[in-house]
Amino acid sequence: MINWFVRVSIPDDDKILSDTAVNPTGKVIGLTHAIYRQKYSLEVLRTAKSFIIDCDLSDLLCPYREGEIKRSVSKLMDFLNLPRRELKLTDFNNQMIKNIVQKILDFQRRILSKVSSIQRTLQFFELEAKQPISGSPSLYALTIPYFPVSSVSDPWYDINLKMIAEALKSKSGDEVMYATIAIDKREILNDIVIDNIVKDYNNCEIDGYLIWITDFDEVFDDLNYVKSFIDFIKKLKTETNKPIINLYSGYLSLLLAKKNLLQGVVIRVCYKQRRKPCTEAGGPPREGYYLGLVKHKISSNLMPSILESKPDLRCHCIICKTYFIREFIDPSTGKSVLKFLPYPRETERYVYRSNIKKHFLYAFEKEIQDVSTRDFNELLNQLLDLASKAEDLLLPANHLRRWYETLSKYYLKL
Ligand SMILES: [Zn+2]
Repeated sequence: MINWFVRVSIPDDDKILSDTAVNPTGKVIGLTHAIYRQKYSLEVLRTAKSFIIDCDLSDLLCPYREGEIKRSVSKLMDFLNLPRRELKLTDFNNQMIKNIVQKILDFQRRILSKVSSIQRTLQFFELEAKQPISGSPSLYALTIPYFPVSSVSDPWYDINLKMIAEALKSKSGDEVMYATIAIDKREILNDIVIDNIVKDYNNCEIDGYLIWITDFDEVFDDLNYVKSFIDFIKKLKTETNKPIINLYSGYLSLLLAKKNLLQGVVIRVCYKQRRKPCTEAGGPPREGYYLGLVKHKISSNLMPSILESKPDLRCHCIICKTYFIREFIDPSTGKSVLKFLPYPRETERYVYRSNIKKHFLYAFEKEIQDVSTRDFNELLNQLLDLASKAEDLLLPANHLRRWYETLSKYYLKL
């Protein structure tokens, strides 16, 4: 089974996750968030099987409006003993790097021991009535702090490498430590750059990698980007032979995990899959409905007519059965007809959005099970079938053809 993690960015997301019966490998929470809302974060992590703290420091480099610093960011600055202003490269001398890296690693070690002790106390008193108390969550890996960079010549790229060297000095024998490579999608269009990044990050003491190809979108980016994305992962995997987890994943990443190029994927609770640094972690909610046919979200306004012409595309998850899809008997023919319920009025929007997100979690878990159990070539060929079916319904499906084209070049010849 493919490892999958759910990124929890706002309290609602964790509530939605805990209201479903999906069973991810673990949860991911951002460092700024974990420091700003410590109490809440402990609760989120306590109920995870395992967790990863994403130590993205980009908040420190974001431009602030008229010197105004977000409360969460000033808390991060205070935690790291940084001056309350935009960070400059000159702030990062060796002593500063050492302090920051140690503080962030210790924070992760401490949070693990805190959630474990809360869990033990609850187990002792059997306070959890809702569900039986599971074992203590594990830290999937300690992660080394990083800045997302625009290119390998970005000065923060070298700072990232220095932070890795510093972190590895304090790594104890039984600790698992991952480094994050976060770089702009335009940069990896160049093979030489890919070679250099892999060379710079190939350190035998690193146990694995988290990757964030910033602004890359599996569905909407063109063939060159899809190809570079796969080239990059393939090269990193072949050269290092270490596990790689994609921090912003969709269905294409599942196919890469099937070929063991990725160890795991991270999804968000139904937000856009792409992310750029210095944008809101969650972004505006997208009320798209995940449709297995196109392997991404489409406007739910399209669903009534899709379901009418292709009833076999119905989702059988508990949410769709209860809220979205109703079965009627047509009195004139006596046959059963499926109806997708229309977008609700203003007052019901919150419930509607929560349900769209819950459906996404169920649908994506189903994709993971499907990809885990089926043959890779069969999955690959299915992309073309799905593309033609989608185009019959006038749904854009070029991304499915792009994925097929790129992956088949690599694998069908084998
Ligand atoms: Zn569903």
